[in-house]
Amino acid sequence: MAQEIPSELLMNNTLINDLAAVAKDAALLQGVLMRIKESPNSSEVVTFAPFTLFPTPVPKACFLQAIAVQTHYNTLMDKISQDPDFLHEALASTISVDDFTARLYRIHQHVLKEGRSQSIVLGLNRSDYMLDQKEGEPISLKQIEINTFAASFGGLSSRIPDVHRHILKVAGQLKVLKCIPDNDPAVGLAKAVAKAWELYGSKRAVIMFLVEDQQRNILDQRYIENELWKRNIATIRKKFEDVSKSGKLDEKKRLFVDCQEVAVVYFRNGYMPQNYNSEQAWESRLMMECSLAVKCPDINTHLAGTKKVQQVLAQPGVLERFFPNEPQVVEQLRTTFVGLYTLDMGAEGDKNVTMALETPDRFVLKPQREGGGNNIYGHELCEVLNKVKNSDERMAYILMDKIRPVPSQNYLLRREMPLKLSTCLSELGCFGAYVRQGNDMLINDCVGHLLRTKNSEHLDGGVAAGVAVLDNPLLF
Ligand code: ADP
Ligand code: MG
Repeated sequence: MAQEIPSELLMNNTLINDLAAVAKDAALLQGVLMRIKESPNSSEVVTFAPFTLFPTPVPKACFLQAIAVQTHYNTLMDKISQDPDFLHEALASTISVDDFTARLYRIHQHVLKEGRSQSIVLGLNRSDYMLDQKEGEPISLKQIEINTFAASFGGLSSRIPDVHRHILKVAGQLKVLKCIPDNDPAVGLAKAVAKAWELYGSKRAVIMFLVEDQQRNILDQRYIENELWKRNIATIRKKFEDVSKSGKLDEKKRLFVDCQEVAVVYFRNGYMPQNYNSEQAWESRLMMECSLAVKCPDINTHLAGTKKVQQVLAQPGVLERFFPNEPQVVEQLRTTFVGLYTLDMGAEGDKNVTMALETPDRFVLKPQREGGGNNIYGHELCEVLNKVKNSDERMAYILMDKIRPVPSQNYLLRREMPLKLSTCLSELGCFGAYVRQGNDMLINDCVGHLLRTKNSEHLDGGVAAGVAVLDNPLLF
């Protein structure tokens, strides 16, 4: 294809070494930064966030399709979040065997019983895709998953286009410079957060980022914080522990942490069981959910983003429930789905177990977890399925068709990693942002994209897990 980086360039070791040095400096100058693992809670010494030496060719049509479908994904997540009957049916089997999802579901029920105190909804998500290439068929955009909780890299991905543009200039590849699209998710994400803050209606109130104990990726979040400060909206960073020590609700259910009123809680932590290392952490989550603060995401939207819900959405007729009079929206969403299969007890689940055991290489087995490194493939898939196939335990997983993207050649730049030409697979994400007040959708946008690339040897894992690196699409 026309936009590929010429192989003479990829094979020229001297030039590649020079370019890699230039590239690392360009990343530092642009602020594509991450704290180092030795000191995850200090910015005294930082390094470049890992990235590819060259951008990766992506068909323009698929890229535009991902952007166009994003607002429908926003609407879909929002509609699911308002449908407790659907969430109940979809998650019933999962919560009977998966303690973490069950615990989240209990919070959801608690809030439902108490009555929601806040009618402002703020959704920031990222829908991730790979470009599937089946033999004899055109390349097609297929969804991996949608992240409704703590979707990251909206900050750093806004700085990476200029890094690759610079590298291409130095490498003499001027023809393709214009094929790297602009990208600025941080601005769009912050705009939605700012809108929610404004609707909350208290000038004194702050935006609280609920953050991890280990904060290597803080600089990614700082981009969004800075956009808010530019609008004179104050942000604070607190952990679950801080909220349990100094958080309280007043008689109107307003949330105060360290005596500051919180208008918006933006969760960047709380999607993994290990994020809740004490009962107090769970109590804090419940307190925040019950408060008047706008939660991003609220517990309903958190549950809407589970892998089990994704599997249920792929069943016939389910999208129609949410878009009864919009067949073209249903079609646009559905064409991005691959086969997703239930492992619930019963005839259908039995059939799917047999199918997976017969042809394990066609599938990915997924537990209800987020954050990378949890999926199961190949012979391990058979081992796990054989172990759980006759018990309820199998309902903690879903089965998904494996997407087979066309590999590309690139160099992955990571601190202390030798420079080596690698066969790579890429994953495209689109950032969605929406704000609803009562029945009025006030913002519903696609605010940018993210391309991540990893060595094809790795089946799983994101940037934070040290597997994928930041990249740019080179549209053709
Ligand atoms: P997580 O919540 O852990 O991020 P994902 O569903 O995004 O879970 O899967 C993690 C990684 O596994 C993805 O980034 C992708 O590289 C790979 N993966 C997931 N699903 C598939 C699939 N259906 N086909 C091929 N690779 C997949
Ligand atoms: Mg993922």
